[in-house]
Amino acid sequence: MVELNLDHIYKKYPGNDNYSVSDFNLHIKDQEFIVFVGPSGCGKSTTIRMIAGLEDITDGELKMDGQVMNDIAPKDRDIAMVFQNYALYPNMSVYDNMAFSLKIQHINKAEIKKRVANAAEILGLEDFLDRKPAALSGGQRQRVALGRAIVRKAKLFLLDEPLSNLDAKLRVSMRAQIAQLHQRLKTNMIYVTHDQVEAMTMADRIVLTKHGKIQQVGTPAELYNQP
Ligand code: ADP
Ligand code: ADP
Repeated sequence: MVELNLDHIYKKYPGNDNYSVSDFNLHIKDQEFIVFVGPSGCGKSTTIRMIAGLEDITDGELKMDGQVMNDIAPKDRDIAMVFQNYALYPNMSVYDNMAFSLKIQHINKAEIKKRVANAAEILGLEDFLDRKPAALSGGQRQRVALGRAIVRKAKLFLLDEPLSNLDAKLRVSMRAQIAQLHQRLKTNMIYVTHDQVEAMTMADRIVLTKHGKIQQVGTPAELYNQP
């Protein structure tokens, strides 16, 4: 439900000599599933952290539906982010992990309950709402992290290597779940990975990145089935 423009975006961290992201130029269409793929250190995380507002943009403009977002606070961006390490609150139940960001926004309890129940149903977590993260499997923890993103009803999902801590078999099944989630929620998703197979199976379009620069953009077929 959103169009995103990255308009000649640059990032230089204080103290670094080189740009971590350089002339990143991309138009993301409504409901698109975009995958950033490239080796470690090529600027993928930095780029999605700038989209989330967690890092300043050194130069260039980030626009959501035409509005310049550079100076908009993360909480006002209508974005949900899922991290590699899940970042769950260890002392909170699954329910409270999912409810937390909504409580901060002073959303009423009935609405919170409804949204958490809905996310739990989508993710098959109904029977685990009272557990603490330590009592969950890796796949279940990752689903809680997705649940925390779902309850926010954000227009844009950012997923930073969300499956890299899972074993190979679980990764394959979680890929399918995330693809289904995209179908169901009809949000934009930007998914970061260093795994080309993951990129090929999930992406509408892949953005190949190297040394902070975009090398190529295209559908999986365009990028990998070239004669
Ligand atoms: P990727 O996600 O593709 O692995 P990153 O965006 O994490 O790449 O990193 C891109 C470059 O920016 C790397 O050279 C990294 O060392 C540098 N970098 C990342 N975060 C910081 C930071 N907080 N301070 C200084 N340099 C950073
Ligand atoms: P607070 O401590 O701020 O009152 P809670 O998180 O304990 O908030 O509960 C808020 C609401 O969420 C309550 O209506 C409670 O019944 C509901 N709730 C809390 N945990 C669960 C759960 N595991 N399953 C279903 N509903 C829950």
